[in-house]
Amino acid sequence: MTPAKQNLAEALLSVEPGSMLSPQQARQIHADMLAQSTHIRQPHFRNIHINDLQFLFNAYDTHFLNGRCGQALESAPLTFRLAKRMTKTAGTTTRFRARDGRVRYEIAIATSLLFDGFGPADREVTVCGLPVADRLEALQRVFEHEFIHLCENLSWGDSNCSEGRFQLIATGLFGHKSHKHALITRGERAAEIGFRPGARVTFLHEGQRLVGVVNRVTKRATVLVENSSGRRFSDGRYYLTYYVPLRGLSLMQAATA
Ligand SMILES: [Zn+2]
Repeated sequence: MTPAKQNLAEALLSVEPGSMLSPQQARQIHADMLAQSTHIRQPHFRNIHINDLQFLFNAYDTHFLNGRCGQALESAPLTFRLAKRMTKTAGTTTRFRARDGRVRYEIAIATSLLFDGFGPADREVTVCGLPVADRLEALQRVFEHEFIHLCENLSWGDSNCSEGRFQLIATGLFGHKSHKHALITRGERAAEIGFRPGARVTFLHEGQRLVGVVNRVTKRATVLVENSSGRRFSDGRYYLTYYVPLRGLSLMQAATA
């Protein structure tokens, strides 16, 4: 282990749990982001830029680790990604190793989970076991979690958020109470309005109104429409598969006797 990595590992293992420092520092980062970002202009921001993730990295590394994470990266590149298609996972941290042995890291944040949530009638949302009041707080909690994954990777070459070491660091550094998020997923949103698998729905396709059955819901719904030129399914009937955005679907009321 290089001195910079050793330095980071020691800092991570010596964090004091329950320090009053962390909520204050996190609020400071919240305020600084709103003051300095060109895209995140309000707590329920509507736009985000990759530079905002770089800003968060610098802010967290400075406020919480005196720059030790950046130092431990040494010459390894760290890149960020706004992931539009991740619909369940809120963030990922990946370590890539090229054939020549060179390592790089990437932190990805799921933007659809952030942007879909926080409607006026929505239930309370927690991230890492902490209630979050606005979209920026949610982003910060997700980022804090990924930041620890990166730090652990740099220090020990691996990271697992369901293990004790991760959880000690997460509690000590950020006061996290869980390693999961309870953001509102597309699946939950769809189920709320009745688009569960098995529901009968109608939608417009190239000007024609089709009727089908919801098979699966991710970012869009997979709808099966009975058609003799389709593929045979396990019920012995033939269906064509359509991928329909949820806003394009209407629920068909079940006929009552
Ligand atoms: Zn994790």
